[in-house]
Amino acid sequence: MTEPEPVDPTAVSGPVAHDWRPGRFMVIVAHPDDADFGPAATAARWIDAGSVGWLVCCTSGDQGSEDPELDPSVLAASRETEQRAAAEIVGYAGVSFLHQPDGALANDLPLRELLVRELRTFRPDAVLTQDPEVVVYPDGGINHTDHRAAGIAAVDAVYPAARNPMAFPWLVREGLAPHRVGRIYLFWTTAPNAWVDVSATIDRKVAALRAHASQIRDPEGLAGRIAEWAGGDGARIGVAAAETFRLAVIDDDEEESTSA
Ligand SMILES: [Zn+2]
Repeated sequence: MTEPEPVDPTAVSGPVAHDWRPGRFMVIVAHPDDADFGPAATAARWIDAGSVGWLVCCTSGDQGSEDPELDPSVLAASRETEQRAAAEIVGYAGVSFLHQPDGALANDLPLRELLVRELRTFRPDAVLTQDPEVVVYPDGGINHTDHRAAGIAAVDAVYPAARNPMAFPWLVREGLAPHRVGRIYLFWTTAPNAWVDVSATIDRKVAALRAHASQIRDPEGLAGRIAEWAGGDGARIGVAAAETFRLAVIDDDEEESTSA
């Protein structure tokens, strides 16, 4: 006879609202606007409850236009301005732009070092990033190469590099001590296991998205589309709006954080 496996409450695969909250969290994305189409309402909920959030954009979205005559550096500067305005609406403590090439983001050692610097400087309990394992969505949509690259780079920077003093040892000599991130939340996933009730902050997500004026073609229809997506996810846990994540708990040490 073998004992039944203990139930891990963080690995719930059913429709239960996820109430754990990190004291500090970092959102790592490929482009300006990804974080706002992604986990903005969860970020706003956590920040309202006392968490401190930081946003990292690997690129500044300098290919994000259909006008080939547009100067990429001018576009990048305006997208950074839009992202800073959106981040203020969500309530992030700050934004870092890593200035990697849009459309050509690569999970290479230079990017990993930049991310490890961010992680060891801000020292988050949780990291939110794009699910790198999705290539094709069920509706046929392709997950952009930069989204996959940012997601896997973030995962690789969190584990093992950020916690390993022998990874980029010059960082320790600069005073950036190793740091253990306890949890990774992957968004835009096809395998969610965590639903966050964002009924109270979904309007902030819409407001943040509207700050990306260069990217939003139909600002009037935006609120309706966001409400429809979040409403479908919310219905799973019996609330008006939810955002979904594939949660990986790396370390179960939650002393620094709080349960809502
Ligand atoms: Zn994007």
